[in-house]
This record gives sequence, structure tokens and C-alpha cells, in this order.
Amino acid sequence: MRSVTLKNGSTVPVLGLGTWRMGERGSERAAEVAALKLGLELGIRLIDTAEMYGEGKAEEIVADAVADRRDEIFIVSKVYPHNASRKGAIAACERSLKRLKTDRIDLYLLHWRGSHPLAETVEAFETLKRDGKIKSWGVSNLDADDVRELEGVPGGKNCVSDQVLYHLGSRGIEWQLLPYCQKAKIMVMAYSPLGQGPILRKPALKTIADKHGGDVAAVALAWVLRQPGVIAIPKATNPAHVRANMKALDVKLDAEDLKALDAAFPPPQRGSPLAMT
Ligand code: NAP
Repeated sequence: MRSVTLKNGSTVPVLGLGTWRMGERGSERAAEVAALKLGLELGIRLIDTAEMYGEGKAEEIVADAVADRRDEIFIVSKVYPHNASRKGAIAACERSLKRLKTDRIDLYLLHWRGSHPLAETVEAFETLKRDGKIKSWGVSNLDADDVRELEGVPGGKNCVSDQVLYHLGSRGIEWQLLPYCQKAKIMVMAYSPLGQGPILRKPALKTIADKHGGDVAAVALAWVLRQPGVIAIPKATNPAHVRANMKALDVKLDAEDLKALDAAFPPPQRGSPLAMT
């Protein structure tokens, strides 16, 4: 699979598996573990989770799914803003490690900006990195001004990724944040890359999908992945969805497709505050 090289030299595959809404209902647990395992069997090597998802239960599901191949998988997790103090982030990470049944998280993110100063969070992340509990760290839901501020605090330039909302129906980051991150070598992780579903019903997408094997989700994901330095983490529990999303890796959109998609899902004409799910 194509990959993105982080500032610290490690490589990250461009397609991963999301886990938001997993772990919320016990009756779905087996299906959720099975969906993640299927993704891994099909070749996916990155899973995105957070202490917030299912209040820790999603991390436990990830632990079950990667149990027999932990070393092959790049695990991303996130700390709640209210836990992101100098001491709080370290304690939260240790709880996540226990639930994930692992000794390190590959990429640890601040879920969104809260009231703890960025400098404190960075200090905690750097301590966790020094102690081998995380391999790298980043942020989520930070707009260009916040990222610039982050880069100004001690150690802040070690941020390797910003995880933000990005899909055909929400293209705001193309105005400022995406070019800024590409220049600064901060990987953009596109969350909700399928727009949680509704964008997949747009007729323009269907027309292009018909040209590329028939799968609208694969086209929507391939469109996100057309940008250098960008990866996508769709969530799917339905096994047919997991399989369909893999097809994104085979879709090569041409100039005509991109023009048609621009007409159906216009790019931003001005700056606007970062959208969030
Ligand atoms: P998404 O991946 O855009 O959409 C997920 C929804 O789309 C689910 O209902 C899923 O259904 C459906 N789906 C998946 N594949 C499909 C396909 N091939 N055809 C039709 N429908 C399909 O939305 P998301 O879960 O919000 O975002 C993805 C991940 O990003 C999350 O799980 C989470 O890890 C991360 N995230 C991060 C933040 C943040 O603040 N950092 C915010 C939101 C999300 P089934 O499950 O039934 O298959």
C-alpha cells in the first residue's frame, strides 16, 4: 500500500480503519472486532481510536483485533482535552496502553484543543515519547492558526500529524490548513472521509464510480487520497463496506473525473473556521 513518510522517518499507510461508535453496544462487539480483523486480513495496517470512543471500549476492541499481530499494526489513539495536562496526559496514555494491551502507541493525538496550555500537553507528549510509551505525537481538529501557535512552543515542531474533517462535502481545509501542513510535513489524517454516508448518494459520484468499477465509497476515498501527505481512516462495521473501501487503492481518478467532482462538490472560495464532526 502507498504510504506517507512522517517527519520522524517512519512510514504510515494511506488507508486505515476508524473506530468511532465502536464499543458503544455490547451486542455489536463481535461484529466490530470481526470488521477490524477483516480489514487487517485484507492488508490494512493502521487503526485509529481514542479514549473517548465507547469510553475506552473501542480501545479494548482494537486490542482484540490486533492481538496476534500487534507489531505489524500502526495504532493511533487520542487523549481527551480535559486530560491533556502535564500529568493528566501521561496517566490517560497509561490507561489507553492497558486497554490496548500494548506497551506503546504509534501515534498519540490531542483530540481537540481544550483549556490546558499546548505547551503542557507537548511536554507530556515528549515525556511519553522519551519513555517509549508513544512513538510520535500529533493533534486533531487544530486549524492553521492553532498549528502555527503549537509550532512556537518548546518541542511543538515535533508534531507529525493533524487529524481533521475532510471529505468531498467538506473541503474547507484546502484553503489554508492543507497547504500549510503539506509544506510543514505534518501529515493530514482525513476523518469522516465518507462524510458519514450522505455524500455517497450524489449522482455525480455514481457516474464516476460506474467508470471505475462501480463503488461510490472507493471513489470518495480515492479522491481524499489524491493529495500528497494525506491519509484516510474510514469506519466500517459492515464487512461489505470494509471490502468496498479497500477498492479505493485501485481507483485512479483522471483530470476529467476531478473536474466533475469539483463541479458537484465545489472547493472553498474563501477561508472559514475549521469544520468538525
Ligand atoms: P466515515 O468513515 O466517513 O463514515 C462511517 C459510516 O459510513 C458508517 O456508518 C459506515 O457504516 C458507513 N460506511 C463505511 N464504508 C461504507 C461504504 N463502503 N459504503 C457505504 N457506507 C459506508 O465517518 P466517521 O466514522 O465519522 O470517521 C471515520 C473515523 O475517523 C472514525 O471512526 C474515527 O476513528 C475518526 N474520527 C475522528 C474524529 C476526530 O475528532 N478526530 C471525528 C470523527 C471521526 P457501517 O459501520 O455500518 O459499515
